[in-house]
Amino acid sequence: MFVDSHCHINFEGLADRLPQVLENMRSNAVTHALCVSVDLETLPSVLDIANRFENVYASVGVHPDHEDVKEPSVAELVELAAHPKVVAIGETGLDYYRLGERTLADMEWQRERFRTHIRAAHATMKPLIVHTRAASDDTLRLMEEERAGVPGGVMHCFTEPWPIAERALAQNFYISLSGIVTFKSATEVQEVARRVPIERLLIETDSPYLAPVPFRGKPNEPAYVSHVGRYIAQQRGLADAELGEATTQNFFRLFKIPAAV
Ligand SMILES: [Zn+2]
Repeated sequence: MFVDSHCHINFEGLADRLPQVLENMRSNAVTHALCVSVDLETLPSVLDIANRFENVYASVGVHPDHEDVKEPSVAELVELAAHPKVVAIGETGLDYYRLGERTLADMEWQRERFRTHIRAAHATMKPLIVHTRAASDDTLRLMEEERAGVPGGVMHCFTEPWPIAERALAQNFYISLSGIVTFKSATEVQEVARRVPIERLLIETDSPYLAPVPFRGKPNEPAYVSHVGRYIAQQRGLADAELGEATTQNFFRLFKIPAAV
């Protein structure tokens, strides 16, 4: 059994065939999924899915890539996070990949938004879902300054080298790996997959993006997290069931979900 710790099944291509997506999860022994918010405008669609399906949870947050959207305050995030199916704050973080003509100084809005999310995580004691791309030093620095390790959280779709993983682990964070780990060229991510302590490892799809091998380039969905899990089990020399059990227990522990659901 596996759990998808990060997906966007409210996005086009998945939202329009949800019963099939949930059925595919069942037939691949994927028991739960966390549908992650990327902005407040589309949050209702995330909450709607979490309300309809018992084994789907939700988060509240605004993605660092989303520029022309409503800027959340700490109070708003805290209020929205009171929904009974909301188990995390995010996805949040820093993304300097699409800087374009801008300098790092121009990205202060991203850093402010990230701090806002960390403060909301403190206020609710719900864990953070952190996205970081081309910005790992600043991401870890802000996490340290705002003491993100107190509510804790997960570095999602982790693609950084091992020393960055170590620094996130030292801050009480979990590491979540997506289908990228199955890509032939992803040797750094594969090293992380072998070295992360098993009790801090999560798996995800980030669907509809990043389908694992053998579906690479095709639309992704939560059922395929089983391929991510099996690939990592093989890398670590574990039985699929052992890897599945450990990452499932980690999911329940981090997101404070009673395991009996
Ligand atoms: Zn995502």
